[in-house]
Amino acid sequence: MCIQCCLKSLTGIDVKSLKNKKLIKKAIQSLNDLTPEELTKITHVCGTHEMTVSRFGIRSIIPKTIEVIPGPGCPVCVCPSYEIDLAIKLAKEGKIITTFGDMLKVPASKESLAEMKQEGEDIRVVYSPQDALKIARNNPQKEIVFLAIGFETSAPMTAAVLLDNPPENFSLISAHRLTVPAMELLLKEETRKTKGFICPGHVSTIIGLNPYYPFSEKYGMPCVISGFEAIDVLIGLVQIIKMIKQKKPSVINEYARAVKPEGNLKALKIIEEVYTVVDANWRGIGTISKSGLSLKKEFNAFDAEKKFDVHIDNSVDIHPGCRCHEVMLGNILPPECKLFLKNCTPEQPIGPCMVSHEGTCSIFARYGSKNFLRFE
Ligand code: SF4
Ligand code: SF4
Repeated sequence: MCIQCCLKSLTGIDVKSLKNKKLIKKAIQSLNDLTPEELTKITHVCGTHEMTVSRFGIRSIIPKTIEVIPGPGCPVCVCPSYEIDLAIKLAKEGKIITTFGDMLKVPASKESLAEMKQEGEDIRVVYSPQDALKIARNNPQKEIVFLAIGFETSAPMTAAVLLDNPPENFSLISAHRLTVPAMELLLKEETRKTKGFICPGHVSTIIGLNPYYPFSEKYGMPCVISGFEAIDVLIGLVQIIKMIKQKKPSVINEYARAVKPEGNLKALKIIEEVYTVVDANWRGIGTISKSGLSLKKEFNAFDAEKKFDVHIDNSVDIHPGCRCHEVMLGNILPPECKLFLKNCTPEQPIGPCMVSHEGTCSIFARYGSKNFLRFE
């Protein structure tokens, strides 16, 4: 059901605008009418959803028995030190390292890419894998390494570069991760006791609806794929609470204006062509089965780790005092970390969750007061 139809069935009003205040009020009213008696935890796994929840103060306007919990929804935050350490090592060997801007400040085992850049290593910010490819084509005498991060949304873009006849001096470190295995892990976390998932909008444009059915069918977990307006998230919450009350868990596509049931078949084909699904480490969380994308053997020549035969021993993901892993698992909210906005700030981050725009601590630092209303 698309959001317009969904809103119509909920409010009786035919709507065009997603920012209509009246509709938001009606959605909140519906949520109040459905207020669960028991504490009901609903998890999302998307940085942009957390942005919507925090920016619009959704936690402060919904019934207190509904708790919205952020999961590991930021690809920058979940990228382990190992991959960044690899990039740092290669930079020190004289390679040009390219990656997205947010990755520069992320602390690795000892130093960050930003610190290496200050020390004179050639580390360049790019906006897409294609930019990195262009640098490689323009600098045939240098080795260019792209540190690739992101979930199912960005993995096809990285893959497309490898299918675009890249030059020999180009290679990459694949730190791509898959969202659904992380959602499965969250189900096993004792402390969170999730009752439903708001599924990530962008990721779902690629993977479609099918990967979520095991959650509703096997685990009885309602899933709603939501868009990123406040009304999208509110409707998602209404639908999840309704499914819980009716004991009819299912998968609902609230973001039908962008997500097709089958996903993006072309992107899925490219992912399959280029990557192998492997067990992968998530920063501070540990190894999650079948949650990472490694390059297939055919692309060994472009796999920087293999090409340059580099390896890091004993990388450190979580530094003393940092509770990013607990934030990413949704076991605590950022203000529960003693370093939050004291030693750890967006200007001087200690943990990865404070670095990226999609990191939960960084979002709480920017919009936290709206979240805190409910704790006052
Ligand atoms: S890539 Fe998109 S869907 Fe995935 S976490 Fe980031 S904002 Fe959310
Ligand atoms: S406040 Fe800083 S140190 Fe604490 S969990 Fe967040 S990012 Fe990590």
